[in-house]
Amino acid sequence: MFFCEDVIVVPELILARYGEIGLKGRNRRAFEEKLILNMQAALTDFAVERIEREYGRIYIYLNGDMEAACQRLTRVFGLVGVSPTLSADLNLPQIKTAAVVALKEARQEGYTTFKVETRRPNKSFLLKSPEVSRELGAHILRSVSGLSVDVHQPQVTLQVEIRERAAYIYWRSLPGPGGLPIGVSGRVVLLLSGGIDSPVAGWMTMKRGVEVIPVYFHSFPFTSDRAKEKVVDLCRVLARYSGSIKLYVIPFTEIQKKLHKDGPDELLTILMRRMMMRIAEQIAQKEKAIALVTGESVGQVASQTLPSLAATGAVVTLPILRPLVALDKEEIISRAIHIGTYDISIRPYEDCCTVFVPRHPQTRPILTKVEKAEQDLIATELLERAVQEAEIISIT
Ligand code: ATP
Ligand code: MG
Repeated sequence: MFFCEDVIVVPELILARYGEIGLKGRNRRAFEEKLILNMQAALTDFAVERIEREYGRIYIYLNGDMEAACQRLTRVFGLVGVSPTLSADLNLPQIKTAAVVALKEARQEGYTTFKVETRRPNKSFLLKSPEVSRELGAHILRSVSGLSVDVHQPQVTLQVEIRERAAYIYWRSLPGPGGLPIGVSGRVVLLLSGGIDSPVAGWMTMKRGVEVIPVYFHSFPFTSDRAKEKVVDLCRVLARYSGSIKLYVIPFTEIQKKLHKDGPDELLTILMRRMMMRIAEQIAQKEKAIALVTGESVGQVASQTLPSLAATGAVVTLPILRPLVALDKEEIISRAIHIGTYDISIRPYEDCCTVFVPRHPQTRPILTKVEKAEQDLIATELLERAVQEAEIISIT
């Protein structure tokens, strides 16, 4: 709360804006409700008093650290921006008071030029938007020293929204991640290695409103417990965006040893991937997930040429999403840095695929040959045991 010279109390709240979900016709209500649930989950440890919504806007009233709460909301998919906001009753003197409070704050942070932008969806408010902006601009100039108006390139734009219940005044906006609220698009299984790519693929899928269940194939002792910790840490970062994550760790050693011992060397990676796909599909069935996601990108390595991807994918019936197909490594890396997974991904622990890497991997595998090579290798009981002995780790 702010107490001003004129002893008017200006209540604070967070104004959250959402983008695309505003466009979803009949589904809109369900989308908004999911978004609000996800926001509440992101703010569990804050004392939220109430949440209100109005066309394209969600208002959160809480006691406590507004700034920290805003930061938290910048990771909720579906939101395009959040602003610490002042509210005022629908009369000009109150709006002026709030505007002065806001601009004093901006001035304290060193800003010197501003303009006012007013929106007035509430047409019963007597002054029109340009008139409100003008009145507020003049009042601010009189009340806050060291400021001047710059309508072309202001350092600060004071936003004033005059809506049904109140007027909302804010000058700062933190960008949200955009996308759709997690949960509105169903559920998928993500093949999550400790590398750079698959966490990014998982994040991009989450961004489209999808709930992601990661599956990690662990080949102890060829891959150490440090490698597994790395995957858990990656899930912790992803859980900052999704709230919580259920990770499956699949014991993969026996299967890999079998492939290595009896499979043709040049097809080893493809055969390994197909085994991963089979297991991932079984987990998907258990979890009622309707697609698989990988971090593959066309042409990145021998196992990711188009023929290799086709041979890998042919083994399952669920659709395989590959959000990175069209991205260069550099682009993936900059996304990983942005998301916060990069530093974890580059920790130098072995990945099961690099331990058993073939000397001359096939870049154009022929499906019939792959299937033939596999015939004697698919030990159903090995696959079943891997699924049964999966370790499930809950990460929040
Ligand atoms: P990443 O950086 O995601 O590991 P990559 O470029 O290193 O990708 P590969 O190692 O060839 O590529 O793996 C391709 C994809 O197969 C990965 O993006 C991931 O989806 C899946 N994958 C590979 N290894 C594992 C593993 N140990 N556990 C789960 N999924 C895996
Ligand atoms: Mg890898």
